[in-house]
Amino acid sequence: MTKYIIITGGVVSSIGKGITSASIGRILRSYGLKVGAIKIDPYLNWDSGTLNPYQHGEVFVTHDGMESDLDLGHYERFLDVELPGVSNITTGKVYQSVIDKERKGEFLGACVQIIPHITDEIKSLIRKTAEINDYDIILIELGGTVGDIESQPFLEALRQLRNEEGHDNVMFVHVTFIPYLNAAGEFKTKPTQHSTKELRSTGINPDMIVCRSQDPIDDALKRKIAHFCDVDPTAVVNAPDASSIYEVPLTLDKENVGKFIAERIKLDVDVESADLDQWKSIVKSLQKQDPVVTIAIIGKYVELEDSYISIREALLHAAAKIGVKLNLEYISSDVDNLDENELKELDGILIPGGFGERGVEGKLDAVEYAIQNNVPIFGICLGMHSMVIQFARRNSMDNANSTEFDLDTMYPVIDLMEKQKEIKQMGGTMRLGSYDCKLIKNTKAHNLYKQDLVKERHRHRYELNNDFREELQNKGLIISGTSPDDFLVEMVELEDHPWFVGCQFHPEFKSRPNNAHPLFVSFMDAAYNFSKNK
Ligand code: GLN
Repeated sequence: MTKYIIITGGVVSSIGKGITSASIGRILRSYGLKVGAIKIDPYLNWDSGTLNPYQHGEVFVTHDGMESDLDLGHYERFLDVELPGVSNITTGKVYQSVIDKERKGEFLGACVQIIPHITDEIKSLIRKTAEINDYDIILIELGGTVGDIESQPFLEALRQLRNEEGHDNVMFVHVTFIPYLNAAGEFKTKPTQHSTKELRSTGINPDMIVCRSQDPIDDALKRKIAHFCDVDPTAVVNAPDASSIYEVPLTLDKENVGKFIAERIKLDVDVESADLDQWKSIVKSLQKQDPVVTIAIIGKYVELEDSYISIREALLHAAAKIGVKLNLEYISSDVDNLDENELKELDGILIPGGFGERGVEGKLDAVEYAIQNNVPIFGICLGMHSMVIQFARRNSMDNANSTEFDLDTMYPVIDLMEKQKEIKQMGGTMRLGSYDCKLIKNTKAHNLYKQDLVKERHRHRYELNNDFREELQNKGLIISGTSPDDFLVEMVELEDHPWFVGCQFHPEFKSRPNNAHPLFVSFMDAAYNFSKNK
């Protein structure tokens, strides 16, 4: 039977509910439990695929092809699992499913209402997710902040879930923020009291309160919060700002979070057996201060670091693996000219994925710079497209381009995939999720993966145009990975360059702190070597 831990947020958004949920999951996993996670996003979009990264950060792609919230990435990295796409529930999905049923006449003439029809649908989606992998525990993180109009049906459904599944099988964790007022010289608990009151007005009493704060809070303050918010004093825990998100499971473990949860929902585990040793050593490697390797992500969504969150994490995992400190810079490609002085500081360049023409010429300039200066360069999806386009341009295919940006180019080296040509609808229609990629022997790709066939996640409509495949190869572009039927080019590289690798897929989604992705490790290694010889 699956038990549920529901995580709500209060006071302000962006306090790290996702990391808190993932960290609780990590602790429970260390007891040998099978842990899954659900993210509820109360917005009306069906999925996050149509959202600009500036809205909610990166679009994470699950192995089964769901375009989902970035918190699923945190869960996958902390729990070291692959979550099914149904783990992301949105208002859009809930309402669409209920309306579809209504159109089919499934409600037999009933007036369809938020309670019970929408709330029943929410519970049914949650239970379906629980069944898929037979989880012992599912963490359910409710996005947004308690009090938001759009999250009300979800709170009601979650309240009902506790009644139906039983008090011993469902618990609520409320994550709040404790501000420090400089003028008063003290931490303030009132916003937490208010948000807990707001939560209680929905019929939900939190069992545990995780207090986020800039600096640690003391026990007297925790007792005060326990008193005013009606929770057990041992259930008020503090998660002050950490230098790395990977420290949070260790912080929560010290606060005895696992022990409290195990007692509260009667888990049949030995809390003393928790094994967080491997996690501790990861945190230790991440604390390494030298040697420093400077990598830049050169893309167009650089003003919001969350836009490239899985890439950042994958680079961190790789740096920890080879024992260097990552100095990560974000450089906008949406400029007339990249700053050469800035580029000279770099040991490696990463061109990420993206959509639309803005900032593409800057990416091409970055590719040119990397080729001319032998700087290791890694292109992901649109990054690989940029590599192919620039390679074509410097090999006498003037103005070569992708038809995503120029329909009339003489050299459409990147073109819409055949299957995409008939598609009109935007949402969920790209080539999405895990596909096999065959690696060609004696290439960098094959050497670093050390496998003939790999599975990687995709999210794209455009692809290297087979009409130009031979010409590009004749001019020196190495095709190092293809779909198993040879039809789609999945990886490219250059021979006479220290590290020039592009991939059509998104390897960043599969990197784990305990299992850094081979492509990122090899790239980081090349960047480290470059830094030593500078
Ligand atoms: N815009 C490109 C495509 O659709 C690249 C997508 C991406 O980088 N994820 O193919």
